Amino acid sequence: MISKIAKPFYLEGLRFECNRCSVCCRHTPGYVFLSLKDLELLVSFTGMTEETFLSSYCREIVTIRGIKISLKEKANYDCIFWEKDGCIYYEARPFQCRSFPFWKQYLGTKRKWDTLLSFCPGIGKGQIHTKEEIEEWIEKVSQEEYYYK
Ligand code: SF4
Repeated sequence: MISKIAKPFYLEGLRFECNRCSVCCRHTPGYVFLSLKDLELLVSFTGMTEETFLSSYCREIVTIRGIKISLKEKANYDCIFWEKDGCIYYEARPFQCRSFPFWKQYLGTKRKWDTLLSFCPGIGKGQIHTKEEIEEWIEKVSQEEYYYK
């Protein structure tokens, strides 16, 4: 089922291109929840066992739907994967990172999309993502199966 937004403001598409400035990966507390596919990909990419990966990089977060797995943060709130040159596992980064900024919470209205301008320099820049591509992201986000313990 397509989780479309009624009367989307992005009929002509939206410009976005990540310049890997790392603003969204650092300094502010938050969660990067992992899906089942994320966990499999990251375990394979790092060459760790699942047990070692979970204990090294993940924390358990209690939500109303159960216990989810999020990446850890450092004491300064940088993502545990962030090192001086950026994300050390960028090619295998979690779906939550790959799908940003095409999350339904930012796509309901132009005003919500524009709130991203205050911190993400990639908004409004680079290639145009068509309405179809954006709706494909919304659908993928709604279908992603998060890892629950
Ligand atoms: S803030 Fe925007 S441009 Fe910077 S790393 Fe995050 S998504 Fe990319």
